[in-house]
Amino acid sequence: MKKSSSEGNSTHIYSMDKFAGKGERSESLIHNSGGRNKRVKFSYKCDVCHDTGWILIPQEHMQPLAIACECTKAKKLKSEWKTSGINTEMSTQTFSNFQVWNRSSKLAKDVAITFYNDFNNIRDNKQNSILFCGQVGSGKTHLSVALAINLLDKKIKVVYMSYRDVITKIKRNMLDDEYYTKMLSKYQTCDVLLIDDLFKGKINESDINIMFEIINYRYLNHLPVIISSEFTVDRLLYFDEGIGSRIYEMCKDYIVQIEKEQGNNYRLR
Ligand SMILES: [Zn+2]
Repeated sequence: MKKSSSEGNSTHIYSMDKFAGKGERSESLIHNSGGRNKRVKFSYKCDVCHDTGWILIPQEHMQPLAIACECTKAKKLKSEWKTSGINTEMSTQTFSNFQVWNRSSKLAKDVAITFYNDFNNIRDNKQNSILFCGQVGSGKTHLSVALAINLLDKKIKVVYMSYRDVITKIKRNMLDDEYYTKMLSKYQTCDVLLIDDLFKGKINESDINIMFEIINYRYLNHLPVIISSEFTVDRLLYFDEGIGSRIYEMCKDYIVQIEKEQGNNYRLR
């Protein structure tokens, strides 16, 4: 289990590196070749392993010990995203690509960026999550994905869960205890979970039970979620109070509820 909050005596420091970084840093060295100073530029995606994927730990009288670098885990995660149809390296769903076309969409974008800026300070708190809900076609998925990609760039492991696909897959394998537990724990324990299109389609009792197990675990352990759903907070509460109230509590500082008006659907402008 992950440690719970350190509210009260929080010592988080917010770094100002905003949206620029891709984790890349370059070093310049001056080489002296043939009397001329030549600048040689090195650039690694990972400063820890210099893109080898391994960290070598020297040992006395033995071969160095090789352990896998954190960045390989990040790579695995990104390939999982790709399987879900999102290329995190070349996604067009970025903050800068998000078209603001009215007040609601501007507010949605502002809240998403504020959440991103606050994230380091709030991630261990009880209120550490964000909900985009309401109007279909208002860019909820776009902003959720943009947010997730920015967090991934900061080496925070965000797992993408396409609600309908994942719930269908879990239900199909419900009798396989081992698979069920493994699937569930992936969504329960990751750093941040993005649930896309929560409660899309017909929902029944087992959908609710599965979602409760995921949400409740994350709620109890103060693990953030990013949720998009076409349903308003009231509707989420109506579907299941246990799930709805937990989501509300986790997200209440960052709720973007877009009302169902024609002007709020980007595709119908
Ligand atoms: Zn590395």
